Amino acid sequence: MKKKVWIIVILLVIGVIAAIGGLMKGRMAARCDYDGTRIQPIYEVDFEFEDCSIKRFCSIVCSLMDLKDEKKKLKYITVVDEVSGKKIDDSLAFFVESDVIAIPHVKNRIHVFAEKADAERHASQFDGKLIPNPFSLAMRK
Ligand SMILES: [Zn+2]
Repeated sequence: MKKKVWIIVILLVIGVIAAIGGLMKGRMAARCDYDGTRIQPIYEVDFEFEDCSIKRFCSIVCSLMDLKDEKKKLKYITVVDEVSGKKIDDSLAFFVESDVIAIPHVKNRIHVFAEKADAERHASQFDGKLIPNPFSLAMRK
């Protein structure tokens, strides 16, 4: 009888741990607002609109696709520096197009850096080049 109680207790504990794990995972794994892919924080792009709503994307490719048809007014675009993982305003970022594909399913070849030196290093290592801010090009329509 005692043994049965223990088994039930252990099963309950495992169940609780699994439930907490599931909750944490659900919170961590944000999904792309364009194609629903799980977002890797290092390649995330965020749009903040003037009405304070936010859209999050898995890659620059997805965010640019969304931007084409976006009707709401944008306030900020935030990108992530691939080196430090820090979020920065897109106007402060350096963009490099290279042979390295960051997000395979959208063939994202555009990489983001906070420091020009990092951007140039990536460009020379992976046969890439610095490109103008793709968001300001997309918004000038
Ligand atoms: Zn996406």
